[in-house]
Amino acid sequence: MSEYTIKCLECGKEFNGYTLSCSCYSLLRAEYKKRFQIKDLPGMWRFIDWLPCNKPLNTKCGPITYKSNGLAKELGLKNLYISFNGYYPEKNAFNMTCSFKDLEASPTIARAIENGLKTMLISSAGNTARAFAYASNKIGFEVYLVVPESYLYRVWIPGEPGENIHLIAVKGDYSDAISVGNIICKNKNISQEGGAKNIARRDGMGTVMLDATVVIGQMPKHYFQAVGSGTGAIACWEMAIRLRKWGWKGWPKLNLSQNIPFTPIYNAWKAKRREILADDMPNARESIEKIYSTVLSNRNPPYSIKGGLYDALCDTNGEVYAVTNKEAKDAGKLFESTEEIDSLPPANVAIASLIRAVNEDKVGKDDIILLNITGGGVSRLKEDYDIVQIKPEMTIRKPENIVIENEC
Ligand SMILES: *Cc1c(COP(=O)(O)O)cnc(C)c1O
Ligand SMILES: [Zn+2]
Repeated sequence: MSEYTIKCLECGKEFNGYTLSCSCYSLLRAEYKKRFQIKDLPGMWRFIDWLPCNKPLNTKCGPITYKSNGLAKELGLKNLYISFNGYYPEKNAFNMTCSFKDLEASPTIARAIENGLKTMLISSAGNTARAFAYASNKIGFEVYLVVPESYLYRVWIPGEPGENIHLIAVKGDYSDAISVGNIICKNKNISQEGGAKNIARRDGMGTVMLDATVVIGQMPKHYFQAVGSGTGAIACWEMAIRLRKWGWKGWPKLNLSQNIPFTPIYNAWKAKRREILADDMPNARESIEKIYSTVLSNRNPPYSIKGGLYDALCDTNGEVYAVTNKEAKDAGKLFESTEEIDSLPPANVAIASLIRAVNEDKVGKDDIILLNITGGGVSRLKEDYDIVQIKPEMTIRKPENIVIENEC
């Protein structure tokens, strides 16, 4: 059983229950009172001591860390570790919807149930909806999934979706889906799962850093990941803070990446600015349509908020890369041929940024590097399972004159 308090990083106020935010412009963070003991449980549940829930769900998802041979050799790296977050049964990786969103869904639902929630709404560019659909389906929890119409193809699960899964399509992009989700929550009195604000989502993703540190024996010097909201990167940074507090060695530099031409986080960080301005994403809608990795299309990431991505980048002396569609696609081919498993487009963006870092001597050949393959194994999964596309119950248009609220 995990023991923790939830604290506002700005005013220090403590909370309990299913609180998502303080009145301050700050994230809340869980402070675990004890060192974690690895439990004899499947997947990520072995780290339940540092998750904000008490009972594991019946899911096997979890990060898998292994030392790369193929890709490492190709890049001339001696200590390249891969955190594989997808389906790869030969390596014991059972993220059944093939991305690290599976790491968010299970502890978030567990936390919600333990706090008495009966239903929950999630706005998503598709991968999160898929992960929540699968985990909810597995245990019969009711969820509303709000997804842009053009990304509906991403919402599938291995197995038959039950009546507890409600999919709503939105005409518009990911940020429009977030607005519509907020409106539905207010009108129907459904709980928001809260996105980056939900400590369960962050600490679930943070198990990537936990697992890697346990496998490697220390924290990596470099952490590579493609970012849309940056929640996964914030999560790994927060876990690094906890690990350091409990005596683990090392400190990871965040090496994040986005896909040209939609690179708001890259542009703001390059200008060393705490705010993302409209100028950081010119022609946002058109740009989003041009990127290969559309999952990375968040227009309102938790960047400026206290404890958010800007703070994480400052604290780790981080770097953000912007890579082209071609670089990402080529990187994906190289990964598949050297590591013998398929990877999703955002993962390919991260691989491309690692190739860039190697070519520009931004990482040393001996450095301990952790590459987060945030999604993969979809082709592999289809060999083993029939996947079922979830059908939307309705399609709605975002009402005009709605101000997009901050990312949640
Ligand atoms: C969501 C997602 C990302 C980006 O993660 P953020 O936490 O939103 O930055 C990267 N890769 C995959 C496969 C994803 O589904
Ligand atoms: Zn506060």
